[in-house]
Amino acid sequence: MSHDPIADSVLGLLRARDPQAADILAHEQDRQATTLELIASENHVSPAVMHAMGTCFTNKYAEGYPGARYYGGCVFHDQAEELARERARALFGCKYVNVQPHSGAQANASVFLALLKPGDTFASLVLADGGHLSHGLKVNMSGKWFNPVHYPLHYDQSHPQFEQIDYDAAEAICIEHKPKMIMCGYSAYPRVIDFARFREIADTCGAILMADIAHIAGLVAAGEHPSPFPHCDVVTTTTHKTLRGPRGGLIMTDREEIAKAIDRAVFPGMQGGPLMHVVFAKAVAFGEALSPEFKTYQQQVVKNARALADALAKRGYRITSGGTDNHLMLVDLRTRDADLTGADAEHWLERAGIITNKNGVPQDPRPPKVTSGLRLGAPAVTTRGLKEADMETVADFIDRVLASKGDDGVCAQVRADVKATCERFRLP
Ligand SMILES: *Cc1c(COP(=O)(O)O)cnc(C)c1O
Repeated sequence: MSHDPIADSVLGLLRARDPQAADILAHEQDRQATTLELIASENHVSPAVMHAMGTCFTNKYAEGYPGARYYGGCVFHDQAEELARERARALFGCKYVNVQPHSGAQANASVFLALLKPGDTFASLVLADGGHLSHGLKVNMSGKWFNPVHYPLHYDQSHPQFEQIDYDAAEAICIEHKPKMIMCGYSAYPRVIDFARFREIADTCGAILMADIAHIAGLVAAGEHPSPFPHCDVVTTTTHKTLRGPRGGLIMTDREEIAKAIDRAVFPGMQGGPLMHVVFAKAVAFGEALSPEFKTYQQQVVKNARALADALAKRGYRITSGGTDNHLMLVDLRTRDADLTGADAEHWLERAGIITNKNGVPQDPRPPKVTSGLRLGAPAVTTRGLKEADMETVADFIDRVLASKGDDGVCAQVRADVKATCERFRLP
């Protein structure tokens, strides 16, 4: 049993109607309650956001936009979507938003559809350096139907900005290739993004500037990371990472002509009917994000990430780029133990109840299914209420497991300690 009566009653309902599904749900609830979630792109939503998703808004088609739907009966759907839009505009300080993208990747695909033509060149950071698959990976639509060129990090160890974006090289590449669009915003980049510098680069080569703030949206909303506005022409995000809302996407702009093209691209270009139960929950989540508590939460996320990075560095792990400015860090395991791989670490830590993901470090010699690194993030454990001092404890759990090379006894001991920690810091 959780301490969320609505979740308990849903489980009870399923136990009576569909025991097979109930079992799966019960196990997942227990898994989340008793493990420490360190995946940088995950979080625990509030009961209000959780249960706003499980509402009758799922029953209806609302193709189109408020005031211009293709189906009758959308009065309250219009109100829900207007509320989500209004709150998103207030949260990010922009003029136009589209709250319908089903996910971050769909939001990005909609931008490509709205602003580029197949074969057009765009500039981005490659996945191996911290970018996202929807930023030009060959197996993704963005890499199959468009022509990505990638800008680099500083790869020279002696450079003061080692493993940070090389803005001068980015400018040179953009001048050479004349991309129609420049993408910034990443999945595994621990440093502040200089949107103003990207604006200069975009102006130099006449490109549209797009920011994908999927990871840092919560920090941006709370003023803990500089805003992409007014520098960027179009901004996409997910709503379920640091922003702590339902799974979904969001597109924002200050430019009316771009807003019109985006609305057409999302529907009918990319998607059919919006997931209105999710749009409704987005409105609830944006309401929470406008509260003073949310700012305090994001400040704590940043403090916790820094504390965890410091605690791991003290134990001999190299933090790429020498630290973190945001909610996440990339941990290079090789300095602790040259044979340690991200794949082993992820697997061993999971047995001890610590959930992470293996991740390549810049210029990783190992393949993506092995890797030399772990990506760790503080958003979910901060939601549970862990503070800086608890990050020492978490680093200690991690190091005990990895130093033992996943020894069964050690993993079982740490598993028990993790469970005790989870008891002290309950889910929202
Ligand atoms: C997570 C992420 C996305 C994609 O989000 P999905 O909702 O999984 O499609 C897009 N861009 C970046 C930078 C991300 O980190």
